[in-house]
Amino acid sequence: MFNPVKAEERELRNALHEEVPAAKSDLNFFETDADDQGAAAAKKAVAVKPDLVLVAGGDGTVRIVAEQLAGTDIPLGIVPAGTGNLLARNLNIPLGGIDSAVRVAVHGKTEKIDLARAAVTDEDGQESEYPFVVMAGVGLDAATMAETDSEMKKKLGWVAYVGGLLRALKDVRKVNVRGAVDGDDVEEFRANTIMIGNAGMVQGNVRFMPDAELDDGLLDIAVLNPSGPLSWMQVMHEVASNSSPIQRELRKLSVLPDRKAIPELQFGQMKRVELEFDTPIELQIDGDLIGEVVKLGCYVQKEALAIRIKQ
Ligand SMILES: [Mg+2]
Repeated sequence: MFNPVKAEERELRNALHEEVPAAKSDLNFFETDADDQGAAAAKKAVAVKPDLVLVAGGDGTVRIVAEQLAGTDIPLGIVPAGTGNLLARNLNIPLGGIDSAVRVAVHGKTEKIDLARAAVTDEDGQESEYPFVVMAGVGLDAATMAETDSEMKKKLGWVAYVGGLLRALKDVRKVNVRGAVDGDDVEEFRANTIMIGNAGMVQGNVRFMPDAELDDGLLDIAVLNPSGPLSWMQVMHEVASNSSPIQRELRKLSVLPDRKAIPELQFGQMKRVELEFDTPIELQIDGDLIGEVVKLGCYVQKEALAIRIKQ
């Protein structure tokens, strides 16, 4: 399966024929359609009962295919062809070219990872559900994507998001949030950004959610509530130090103290979370802008997805 905007069919065919010469006649190609983000193509691909489904596209295409493959045991191979490719980054799948990614997809080992789901309600009471593999985010995170020019994204990759972030920062606002974690109500709190992650790493190798594991049956949540430049700097510093491999190792060995909790950036883990916002807030799911929502509920299906990673 491939997203024709992002991947060339001919290149994919060549790479596949290289890796699986004997199976030439057994290869099926399905082109995704922008209208349904590839849902119809994914259904067709699953219907032929394949041994393996390769997806050439970004995180948006991967999550649509993941929904069709969930619970089937058909392994999914990722050929990164978008700008974010965060799932591929989190799984250490080669980003450098079609050939190396196809090699991992065909000859790699299969591991099970969790699939997350988000149930959302918009201002008009319309409810919808979305699968996600990396992260759902409301607030600054989604506003950044809304402000990021897609042409710039093509040219600059994730660097383009920095411009979007700066534009979005100008009109950051806080919302009051009511919610429940694993069925228990939590005290009302204020936040300007909340991220719910299946995977913890975002752009530029930043480990935004340091404890997130893709197969632990848990979602990780990060609540950002900085006010003013100084507390933004504290948040940035905290994220940077959580992302440093050396600091992470030293903490594991108890050479460095555990992460200190700062009120501007709080983490949690849960199986299920329900959030309700007092004003509509922008939502993004795996990099796709969904729009403004008033409710967001997320849960996770443990090890629902078989995925090919490096041996
Ligand atoms: Mg997890």
